[in-house]
Amino acid sequence: MPEGKIVKALSGFYYVLTADGHITQCRGRGVFRKNKITPLVGDMVVFQADNDQEGYILEVLSRKNELVRPPIANIDQAILVFSAMEPEFSTVLLDRFLVLIESKEVTPLICISKMDLLEEDEKLMGFADYYREIGYEVIMTSTKEPEQLKQILPYLKDKTSVIAGQSGVGKSSLLNVLRPELELKTDDISSHLGRGKHTTRHVELMEINDGFVADTPGFSSLEFLEMSAEEVKECFPEFVSISDQCKFRECTHLKEPKCAVKAAVEAEEIAPFRYKHYVSFVEEIKDRKPRY
Ligand code: GDP
Ligand code: ZN
Repeated sequence: MPEGKIVKALSGFYYVLTADGHITQCRGRGVFRKNKITPLVGDMVVFQADNDQEGYILEVLSRKNELVRPPIANIDQAILVFSAMEPEFSTVLLDRFLVLIESKEVTPLICISKMDLLEEDEKLMGFADYYREIGYEVIMTSTKEPEQLKQILPYLKDKTSVIAGQSGVGKSSLLNVLRPELELKTDDISSHLGRGKHTTRHVELMEINDGFVADTPGFSSLEFLEMSAEEVKECFPEFVSISDQCKFRECTHLKEPKCAVKAAVEAEEIAPFRYKHYVSFVEEIKDRKPRY
């Protein structure tokens, strides 16, 4: 039986792409209702082709992860768009995204957009250097410089990516440049025409540079819904890399003595702002838990 990837779901049909580039329009049949599995865009499936164009899905292969909004499975990478200005660059929001994304085993790519709005800015460059030092890829882009945007292409190869970031940072603009014929509405145009509310939304994976990019931005909810404080700790790579030097094996880096992380923060080897964000995220999670 052939295997393929669902690249689009619409009106009860799943569009399954096989390695040869062919798309078969498939139905789900009843089998999923029994197993309570709804096939998602991004799923790898086994299907039976009735003919060249139509078929039905027999099995959904196990998922690496799934996102609720947009509904999409098997995401490898999240392109985190943060504008240099308008809205201003926020490390606390970036850290929030990074923690959520790491917890889903998705690789982040930090993309600082609207660089054309900024004169040389040491503070922003300092942040970018820090995130690179702790292991993240950071690129800087501007829609005014198409050449700069091409930097993103090698990162798309062989991956399924979703674009994330707060409103107004330039996500739609970026998608538009990646795939001009899509003509996604940017804020300017959509508010002008009063569009947006009536259009039926469905997710689709666009094939770009041998990879897939979801045409709808993701990670819209930034709450640490199912995360524990211990999991948050694991999402700060510069803490993880030295935590074996803490006196206590299960050190939370909060109140324990002889904590290597706190010492590194004191010495400013770990950025104090990162530690501050860690503490505030942990408090947020603890506050959320019922207290008896
Ligand atoms: P989204 O809400 O994240 O999808 O953001 P949009 O793509 O709708 O962009 C918000 C606004 O920022 C629009 O007015 C865009 O024209 C503008 N914008 C996006 N990217 C850039 C950029 O690189 N440079 C400048 N100067 N403006 C940009
Ligand atoms: Zn510690």
